Amino acid sequence: MSRPTVANIRLDAFRHNYRLAKEIHGGRALAVIKANAYGHGAVQCARAIEDQADGFAVASIEEALVLREAGIAGPILLLEGFFEVAEIPEIEDNNLWIVVHHSWQVAAILATKLAKPLTIWLKMDSGMHRVGLAPDEYRMAYESLMRHPNILQIVMMSHFACADELVSIHPLQQIKTFRAATAGIDAPVSLSNSAAVLGWPISYADWARPGIMLYGADPIIDRESGADVSGQRLRPVMQFGSAVISLRTISKGEPVGYGCTFVAERATRVGVVACGYADGYPRVAPTGTPVAVDGKLTRLIGRVSMDMLTVDLTDLPDANLGSHVELWGDQVLVGDVASCVGTIAYELLCNVKRARFQYSDTSTQ
Ligand SMILES: *Cc1c(COP(=O)(O)O)cnc(C)c1O
Repeated sequence: MSRPTVANIRLDAFRHNYRLAKEIHGGRALAVIKANAYGHGAVQCARAIEDQADGFAVASIEEALVLREAGIAGPILLLEGFFEVAEIPEIEDNNLWIVVHHSWQVAAILATKLAKPLTIWLKMDSGMHRVGLAPDEYRMAYESLMRHPNILQIVMMSHFACADELVSIHPLQQIKTFRAATAGIDAPVSLSNSAAVLGWPISYADWARPGIMLYGADPIIDRESGADVSGQRLRPVMQFGSAVISLRTISKGEPVGYGCTFVAERATRVGVVACGYADGYPRVAPTGTPVAVDGKLTRLIGRVSMDMLTVDLTDLPDANLGSHVELWGDQVLVGDVASCVGTIAYELLCNVKRARFQYSDTSTQ
């Protein structure tokens, strides 16, 4: 038997979540599969929804070419557009859509002779202040691009800074800024990321851009833990698991692992699990972080090492060598592990590596 550390990717759950995103938002949806589909495998995820996806979004031409080479023929949007003008011919050849977020990109498109016209998503900085054209330069850019032969169509887009906070007024201010700057322009609009799809109906427009929700994690931070997942709407796609490979009982007062950070307060049955920070499990996870062993919740104890971590099996007498351990998945939500370590589900999912990736698909469509 090989090392039992496995990321089981349930493609039927991915398909379900994509359908759900479209159903909630209405209109069309680009499935955001940048960063190797948030660590899940971009080609496998794209193939799983290819027949129904309106398009895909990735961060770079390199990520897009991986999909094209795998035979994905639908629209693919480059979320940061091109980084240098030299990429434009390849963008044309591969029929890619591009975000245009900076005036230098606008100028480059206007100055280049193209063989065929481009579809661009013209991005406005409506308040996040990361990328995008300023509201007062947006209309001019739109108009000069729109009447240029290099342009086939323009989608108007913006991105939210605080859509994951349901009590924030910032998304409303961004929508107001966006609407004012685009008033009277008749072009399709895209505003909603996952948090906006799940929490801000006022942002719904022609196109949604869901990412994290497709992987079954709820990005809304001021909701009760996992409410949207446990409400059976979103289905976790990745089950990150391993097995117990060693067991011992230590007496009260004895430590476990590097740094002896955990000291038993009672006789403690310690299970060693074949998963560590080299697999992407966060080293900073403290004692108490939830894990599930053979379907029962318990806790991480002691420090996570490179290849192993330790769990408390004192109250799980049936657990034994070979017992299955879910690090995150259905019983332990990745978002709950993320809150224990002060990060977000996105980062944990993107970090999974070395583990064997297994793909399953139980539904026929
Ligand atoms: C990554 C990204 C998304 C998806 O965001 P989620 O929070 O994962 O839904 C949407 N739009 C843009 C511009 C992005 O960069």
